[in-house]
Amino acid sequence: MGLYKYVTNRTLKNKAGEEKGKIKVLVPNNSDTAQVEYVCPECGFSEHKEQEWKRPFVVKCGKCGVSMKIPKLKDEIKREKKAAKKAAGA
Ligand SMILES: [Zn+2]
Repeated sequence: MGLYKYVTNRTLKNKAGEEKGKIKVLVPNNSDTAQVEYVCPECGFSEHKEQEWKRPFVVKCGKCGVSMKIPKLKDEIKREKKAAKKAAGA
């Protein structure tokens, strides 16, 4: 059994589609406060902060204000499959 009810570790793409940022979110079992660590994909600012855990979960960059969303894993996989199909076909 883990200590966390939600854990994720994602890379974040900037508006140019480059994987420049990352985000890590931990939500302890006994808490609704998410512990967030991120590197902003737009400006490179990195920070550790805590904020209320809710869906959809959006973290704002403390420097440039860009919104970093964490898509649900299922949606993300779907999108990646679609993109792979597109790349394979054409
Ligand atoms: Zn930023």
